[in-house]
Amino acid sequence: PKSPFSVFLPLKCAKKMQTQVEDSVKPIVDPHDIDPKLLQKLSYDALVFCSLRGLVVGDRNSEKSGTVPGVGMVHAPVALLPMSFPESQWNQACEVAPIFNELVDRVSQDGEFLQQSLSRTKKVDPFTSRLLEIHSKMLKINKKEEIRLGLHRSDYMLDEQTKLLLQIELNTISSSFSGLSCLVSELHRSLLHQYRERIALDPSKIPTNNSVNQFAEALAKAWNEYGDPRAVVMFVVQAEERNMYDQHWLSASLREKYPTLLHLAWFLLVNSPGNISLAFNTHQVTTTRKTLAEIDAHGELLEDGTLVVDGEPVAVIYFRAGYAPCDYHSESEWRARLLMEQSRAVKCPSISYHLAGTKKIQQELAKPNVLERFLENKDDIAKLRKCFAGLWSLDESNTVKDAIERPGLYVMKPQREGGGNNIYGEDVKEALLKLQKEGTGSDAFILMQRIFPTISHSILMREGIPHKEQTISELGIYGTYLRNKKEILINQESGYLMRTKVSSSNEGGVAAGFAVLDSIYLV
Ligand code: ADP
Ligand code: MG
Ligand code: MG
Repeated sequence: PKSPFSVFLPLKCAKKMQTQVEDSVKPIVDPHDIDPKLLQKLSYDALVFCSLRGLVVGDRNSEKSGTVPGVGMVHAPVALLPMSFPESQWNQACEVAPIFNELVDRVSQDGEFLQQSLSRTKKVDPFTSRLLEIHSKMLKINKKEEIRLGLHRSDYMLDEQTKLLLQIELNTISSSFSGLSCLVSELHRSLLHQYRERIALDPSKIPTNNSVNQFAEALAKAWNEYGDPRAVVMFVVQAEERNMYDQHWLSASLREKYPTLLHLAWFLLVNSPGNISLAFNTHQVTTTRKTLAEIDAHGELLEDGTLVVDGEPVAVIYFRAGYAPCDYHSESEWRARLLMEQSRAVKCPSISYHLAGTKKIQQELAKPNVLERFLENKDDIAKLRKCFAGLWSLDESNTVKDAIERPGLYVMKPQREGGGNNIYGEDVKEALLKLQKEGTGSDAFILMQRIFPTISHSILMREGIPHKEQTISELGIYGTYLRNKKEILINQESGYLMRTKVSSSNEGGVAAGFAVLDSIYLV
């Protein structure tokens, strides 16, 4: 059945466009009906694009692919064509991004709220407990973070029945794929352009995606605020990272920022041509990559709080590791986390930003009258609340009872990041019954309304092979936020990530191997 979220235009619109191209052109309505020869050509060109343009990840079949760049690369898993998405919900998702940024910042400043809301989680979840311990130490010494940088990604699914845009979660640490997602939009635009006579889709309906430059811009501005030209931006990374190219795109953008044509045109309009060299100003920010263990071994705090790692002062600490218990192999990694938190470097995220992004806090913020504690503007509050799905703690006995009776309508979530940790379907029932029997441990989880997005048809490219699948999608909107003691310097929606996965799979992680990168086609 053709869904409204099918990749292609509704037949009506496609017909209209058809008259603009050749009469003989037959618009495709469903990607699963695509002519096999055309599919072969599209796939081939997509693979060439990925290889030439660095839309790549480390190949899990190659031993060194997680440690040595340039060895064992494979195209990133991608959808062959963009996914339809309604323009109004797209605008809605973009509009709330700065409000969520502001919310995270306000919540991060309320240490008591964080400690209180997570107090019971702390007793049963050792990982969250360690994070809270660091947070609590910072509260004790009255540590102030004056320059605050957030690189967030708020994820949504479109509920089929209600057509509501519902938030899945808000990531405040290691929001990934800002580097690769821009390239997917470019890939799709280029294919639509190239095959415009065969596929009646308008490339300009794929929104511009500039996430990598916007993340780089925010990091560079934070670096600038820190104010030491010799200092570096330090990427905290896992020792083995197959998604390293996504990260390298960001460091490359920090090193050299080339102006876009639009930027140049604007610059020439408002400046004299003599100043043209300014338009080519590059960030020229140096980045380093360090694991938590390396930071513990080679890092030190100077008396004024400056963090020095391997002899280099660090202006900004950007975490692409440290969000999961498995990143902390020993006490050494926890020492590194504490050392960084004690320093005066800008942390992305700080321990309080990290905690503000936990599932427990998401659930607490969804309770009545809690948003009001952090935001004044009633319209803003209404806009955020509109995208909250049902969220409950496990001490709400009616909900737990219902979840045992109808487990398929819920998702059970621990305080974890990175995909693959949630509980679905009959497992929800079993897990809840087990917790009831044991009488402890339920504070480690929250319950969430299960969202059922519309099922579409897509072609997913994996290891060079196109697969026709029934799929569902999740839209992530990046947000950048930067402030200093005096004022907000950046608070913006900053590009997007569409992820599409086989509809029968519960989880949606690309890195975890469940989903592919996608872009959107506004309808
Ligand atoms: P993580 O921090 O591990 O990414 P998420 O809350 O994003 O945790 O959950 C992982 C995946 O599980 C999501 O990408 C989505 O595919 C699926 N998921 C999470 N919550 C829901 C929900 N309420 N309804 C349907 N699917 C969900
Ligand atoms: Mg997450
Ligand atoms: Mg997620």
